Amino acid sequence: MTSTDTGSTVSSSAPTPAPQTGGGVAGPRINLPVSRLQPAYQQVADQLRSLIIQGELVSGDRLPPEAELGSSFGVSRSTVREALRSLASQGLIETTRGTTGGTFVSRIKPAAVTSYLETSIGLMSGTDDLTIAHLLEARDMLEVPAASLAAKRHRPEHVEALRQAITREKASRGRTGKFSEHRQFHGLIMAATGNGLLPMVADPIFRVLQTRFLNPVEAEGFWAMVDQDHEEIVERIETGDAEGASAAMRAHLTNIRSAYHD
Ligand SMILES: [Zn+2]
Repeated sequence: MTSTDTGSTVSSSAPTPAPQTGGGVAGPRINLPVSRLQPAYQQVADQLRSLIIQGELVSGDRLPPEAELGSSFGVSRSTVREALRSLASQGLIETTRGTTGGTFVSRIKPAAVTSYLETSIGLMSGTDDLTIAHLLEARDMLEVPAASLAAKRHRPEHVEALRQAITREKASRGRTGKFSEHRQFHGLIMAATGNGLLPMVADPIFRVLQTRFLNPVEAEGFWAMVDQDHEEIVERIETGDAEGASAAMRAHLTNIRSAYHD
């Protein structure tokens, strides 16, 4: 047995004592992958994050003072502070000053989730891990059933907002404005499902498609087709035609595929 750090040594289930040397530092070989050894602050941050995700700590809860957290975890105050900085950078906690100040579990706003997802999806997209085909497939999986849900659950103000989005898109002169209104329209359908998670998840996909994959020029007649498709979708939603709304959305997504490049 040599002392080299080979794969077979690491996967061995029976630790072999390292040869004793005069230095007195050798001991039993530890078969723990290096990647699992995390800094103390990271372990504290991970545990606090788990408490938040599991709902043990909820939005608005005040965290115990640093000294108390330090003694609970058996780490120094500076380690606690570093863990809190890490959680704050992820938007999970926020610190306020003053007499009523302290460190609190954040109240997460949908816009923050959308923004985080947009940045992350934007960074990944265009790689083999996340191709435009993946984005369009996910979009289909979200929007086609969403149109059906919107037909069943919408309120009158949703239809009103959808019609206004169509009017604004028609009135927009530049393509940036038109695509922005186009995205709004699709976001409004997500909102009309009454499921608050859907707009949060779908909007980042719409945004990344527009910022990363839009062709420089639309085909002739593209916007007239969009207007017609949108009007049909709204009509089906308004009349509560769930199947028709889904079918109209599916056809529309096929029609606008040419606006995006690979
Ligand atoms: Zn559309």
